[in-house]
Amino acid sequence: MALFQIIEDIVLKVVNVKKPRFIFAKSGGSLKKSIVQSVIAKDVHGMKTTISLWRDFVDRPKEGHVYRFSKLEVGKYPATKPHNLTTRFTTRISDVTNDHAEAFKEIGKADGKVTGRVLGISSLTEYKSCVNCWVKIEDDKMGCTLCTDPSKVKFFNDYRCQFQVERGEEELIFTGFRRNMGLTGDVNETTEDELNLLYAGEMVEVEFEINRRQNENVKIVHAIKIQNA
Ligand SMILES: [Zn+2]
Repeated sequence: MALFQIIEDIVLKVVNVKKPRFIFAKSGGSLKKSIVQSVIAKDVHGMKTTISLWRDFVDRPKEGHVYRFSKLEVGKYPATKPHNLTTRFTTRISDVTNDHAEAFKEIGKADGKVTGRVLGISSLTEYKSCVNCWVKIEDDKMGCTLCTDPSKVKFFNDYRCQFQVERGEEELIFTGFRRNMGLTGDVNETTEDELNLLYAGEMVEVEFEINRRQNENVKIVHAIKIQNA
């Protein structure tokens, strides 16, 4: 019986490269500091997966490029497919021909696009985020738990909100974060009102990403475009 399931050969487009981070991993009975980087990649049909890049593979794949990955290991997480993938010592990452890359030209960071009328923005919650990776800062003194030197990490005032869009009979709820909501001013108690002034009642095209959180699909606003009447 094989201990690991290996994918011999798969061509994927890297659509999102996360910051590398240090973690402590078990190695021969002791804990060893290691560097790992997550990237989000999609196949030619838009099926999305996360790849963990270890050590020498960190920073190799560039965002927006198509690669042939050989001998990736299939992870056990999440419990349902698609499982995360991870590099091994034997993994190889190589470029593909331009023709092959061309087949991926419609594949990008966004997982979908809808057009509808904005019902409103609600449930705006402020919090502090890491300037590097946007992860929520739980404790000012601890800093960012993902970044390589937590004590030196700076944070900024961030928020999340609910962005409600009506499309026909359907009411869609997206999660919006400050970085993609199109308002760059200071965050304060009027921010939700300002967002409603900007978007409520408008016809918009929303590009979104789908994130899995505890087996639930959460639609995250990636970009909002107001359609001119
Ligand atoms: Zn961070």
